[in-house]
Parts: sequence; C-alpha cells; structure tokens
Amino acid sequence: MLDVQKIRKDFPILQREVNGKPLIYFDNAATSQTPQQVIDVIVDYYSNYNANIHRGVHSLSQEATDAYEQARLKIQKHFNAKQSHEIIFTSGTTHSINLIANGFSSLLKKGDEIIVSALEHHSNIVPWQMLCERTGASLRVIPMNENGDLILSEYEALLNENTKLVFVNHISNALGTINPIEYIIEKAHAIGAAVLVDGAQSCPHLKPDVQALDVDFYVCSAHKICGPTGVGMLYGKEEWLNKLPPYQGGGEMIAEVSFEKTTYAGLPHKFEAGTPNICGGIAFGAALDYMNAIGFENIAEYENELLEYGTAELQKIEGLKIYGTAKEKTSVISFNVGAIHPYDIGTILDKMGIAVRTGHHCAQPIMDFYKIPGTIRASFMFYNTKEEIDAFITALKKAIMMLS
Ligand SMILES: *Cc1c(COP(=O)(O)O)cnc(C)c1O
Repeated sequence: MLDVQKIRKDFPILQREVNGKPLIYFDNAATSQTPQQVIDVIVDYYSNYNANIHRGVHSLSQEATDAYEQARLKIQKHFNAKQSHEIIFTSGTTHSINLIANGFSSLLKKGDEIIVSALEHHSNIVPWQMLCERTGASLRVIPMNENGDLILSEYEALLNENTKLVFVNHISNALGTINPIEYIIEKAHAIGAAVLVDGAQSCPHLKPDVQALDVDFYVCSAHKICGPTGVGMLYGKEEWLNKLPPYQGGGEMIAEVSFEKTTYAGLPHKFEAGTPNICGGIAFGAALDYMNAIGFENIAEYENELLEYGTAELQKIEGLKIYGTAKEKTSVISFNVGAIHPYDIGTILDKMGIAVRTGHHCAQPIMDFYKIPGTIRASFMFYNTKEEIDAFITALKKAIMMLS
C-alpha cells in the first residue's frame, strides 16, 4: 500500500496556503503537481549541464545528449515500445496529435472516413476536422450513452472499407470513463484501419503496454504525470512512422541539405526538428521513475478508494447530479448542484483554498449531450486524501447554502 503522508512531503506545493487556507488541489486532470525529485532534476540540468544536444563534441553537450537519450529509453521501457526510435519527443498531447493528423494529409483522399468518439477532448477533434477539410475525408462519431459509455454497437456499425483511422481517448478527461480500447483497436484492425489512442488522462493512473495493446499510435503529456509542462511523447509503430512525412522542417531532422534536395534523418529525429525541450524530456523520465517507484497498481488501488469515497459523499448532497457513471472510470467526478452555475461554486471553493475545474473541460460535445453549459470537476491523484475530500464536502455545502 502507499504511504500518502510520506508522499505528500515530496510535493512542496501541497504545503502552501491559498486564501489563508491549506491548499486542496483537486484539479489534477488539468495538470498534476511536481515532486521535489523532479524539481531537483530540473535544477540540476540548468545548474550543471545545460547545453544543446546531438551536435557538440564538448562534454556538456554529451552529458545533456546522454541524459536526454536515457529519458527516451525510460519512456520506451515504461510503455513497452519495441524500439526506442518509436518514441518521439513532442511538446505534449496536442502537438503529438497534430503531428499525426498532419502526416495523414498525404495518405487520405476524398471518401475516406475517420472515426472519433463523442468523449473526445477538443485537441482530439479539431485536428481531425482540419485534416478532413484538407483531404475531403469525412468525420464519423461514436455516440455515447447517459452513463458516459461509448455505444460499441454503433462503433461497429460505423466501421467499413472506407475507414482509415480511429481516434479515441483511453480515459475521458471530462467524465473519467475508461474506454475499452483493446476492443476498439481489435475491431479497427480487422478492417485495416489505424488507431491512435489519446493517453493524456490514462498515463497518470495506469501503465499502458503499447505492444500488448497492438496500438498504432499512443500519445501523452508529461505535465499530467508529475512532470513539467511543454513536453510529451508520441509512440508510433515503426512502420507507421516511416510512412508518415516529417511534420516540421529544420535542424536536427535532416540527413543532408542542399538547395536542390534535402534528405531526412531517420527515426526518431525525422520528427524532432529544432532544439527540443531538453530539460523537459529529462524531467519527464524522472517523473516516470518517481511514479514507478510508488507503483501503478498501488496508485490505481488508492485512487479508486478516493473515487468511491468521494462519489458516496457527494451523492449524499441533495440536488447534486454526477455526470459520468461508467462502471470503468478513474478518479474524476463531474457534477452540478441544482441550477447553480458551476463557476459560482468554483469561485467560492477557491476562497476556501480548494482548486477544482469548472466549465466544459475542453469537451463541449459532452456538455451538449447532457444539455448543460459545464460541470464542476474534482479530480484526484495519489497524493490526495479522504480528509481533503471531507473538507471539500463541508466547503461545498457552505457554498450551496450561500448560493441557494
Ligand atoms: C489534457 C488533455 C489533452 C491535451 O493535453 P495538452 O497537454 O494540453 O496538449 C488531450 N486529451 C486529453 C484526454 C486530455 O486530458
């Protein structure tokens, strides 16, 4: 089991106060907090070996290159990718998705179809709409039901010989639903379509095995896994990454350049134009080390307890409705209280030191489905506690009294 009091000491930010109250941070689905172990790695990089990578013969450049490539190996191992060059460093999930959407511009034609799910984040909708505009392909959507589950029979009905790509998130950031991606991948592969899974919300809570999943592309952001902002990764099967053209031109991604013709570097450099977020990549590796030391099974078990406890306590409040009641879900609770605007509750909670997210959570189609403008979302990580949930429930009841 995990020792939450010991873990909390790793996070300097959890010791601070907000508006005179101890911080209760329940906005983990937007970004997670950073432990001292990762902060130390960032400070060490800038204090001791800040240099550009892959180009210098001098010692600092070699140390930085080694640390950066070590981080790539850690990520490879964590996700069980077959080869390290199947891991591409990006600036985050959004960048990874755009890289792939751009790459498919030259592989799609009019009449082709792309399937996305009703549960997607805007970053997993808009790039595909742009891709459809460029290529004449069309977008089909797997619908959801009232619980926040995808309707799989409808998914199967959408699949046909024109389906080229299926894009779905592993876990919904707005509702916490864990999607049956094994099944989705198997069905897509049966008709020859490629699958990209948005793992931004799953990687904080579980350890995906890209080979066991047989997924074609898997993407995530470091900042939701106790790492820094501005860095993330794209896993792609080698055969797919070789098929896709480079996304950006520049330094680092070339083999030879002349004004007549430029040839591209091999994987992974083909997709890594320019100076990357070197420190961020190294810290991303350190964040995975940190989470693996706690253990993803321990994390999942503890977060499930928080989810069950939080759900039960919230359900006791009169007029409170939870959106997203899928059987398989993570520690995200989206809710509203009567007709009170989520923003008003969020503002009062902040006065009491409690950080929650209010709004549409970059998933407006889900809000449209429920015919609501938004929700209040409390999302827990392994460093949160039942005592914090109790304080949150008390504060929430106060806010409701003030607003009714
Ligand atoms: C956060 C999130 C994204 C976007 O991640 P960025 O780090 O902002 O690029 C995409 N999809 C899901 C499910 C998310 O939770």
